[in-house]
Amino acid sequence: MTTRAGIVTVAGRPNAGKSTLLNRLVGTQLAITSPKPQSTRDRIVGILSDDTTQIVLHDTPGLLQPEYALHKAMQASALQALQDADIIVHVVDAGSKIESLAEAAGFPPHRTPKAPVILALNKTDSLSKGNRAGLEADYPGAVFISALTGDGIPDLLSRIRAMLPVHPFFYDAEDLSTQQTRFFAAEFIRETALEQLSDEVPYSIACEIEEFRETRSPVYIRAVLHVERDSQKRILIGSGGARVKSIGKEARRKIEQLIGGQVYLDLWVKVLPNWRRDHAALRRLGYKVPEGE
Ligand code: GDP
Ligand code: MG
Repeated sequence: MTTRAGIVTVAGRPNAGKSTLLNRLVGTQLAITSPKPQSTRDRIVGILSDDTTQIVLHDTPGLLQPEYALHKAMQASALQALQDADIIVHVVDAGSKIESLAEAAGFPPHRTPKAPVILALNKTDSLSKGNRAGLEADYPGAVFISALTGDGIPDLLSRIRAMLPVHPFFYDAEDLSTQQTRFFAAEFIRETALEQLSDEVPYSIACEIEEFRETRSPVYIRAVLHVERDSQKRILIGSGGARVKSIGKEARRKIEQLIGGQVYLDLWVKVLPNWRRDHAALRRLGYKVPEGE
């Protein structure tokens, strides 16, 4: 039997709806979504298999002009993700200026990815009929979707499946590895912290899983939320530890849903000064820092 399989990378400007689309595609909440740009830490792999096709989904961090080390690391891994792709899904907010992937990503000409690009015009739920008709005429090759409502997602999937290269499956279809579970646990904890905090702290938070023991019941997870300053640590802990307790409780609920079992979450808050500008700290927290930096 002929199988098709390949890496499908979702790219686009911050806030275009990449994470929402990934969540919709894999049908469970894997990538974090947030109204704030730049919240996706690194590319995230979801795997979509049916009898004859396997889609390996990669997220890219927001494509943006690098300002400091974290941004550079994010842009470098976004560009690398594009190079590795078999198919690129370029997500554009249909209500914004429709730009090409090259314009959005700003990659130099010699790094133009070789993969075919599917233009996915997102947020069609908030387009008027007239605007939609105009866009359909101007972009006949585009797929019109709403990552939020699911509209157009089956079309997008069949387009992707038809374009996949003939290739054996990359992964055991049922496998959600410990590696992935750890990663998603960290994302859930960070997402929950973002949800429960006001604007002053979010970009300064990173989550590190120090211990993850799946052989115990409940599953034991020790995690650390790293912040840059003492003042942020105080906010995160809250009065009498109330804030971190509440974050831990909600994050535990999400992780239990993902793994389908009970979890003991041991959650700590630590100061890692200036981690966003510190290459060693960025590497330790799982960011890819460009060579020679
Ligand atoms: P990312 O930065 O590209 O990963 O974008 P997100 O997935 O985090 O989405 C950014 C914002 O756009 C969030 O508030 C989403 O709820 C919203 N959003 C995403 N897709 C849609 C959509 O199809 N329709 C509408 N109305 N909003 C959407
Ligand atoms: Mg995102």
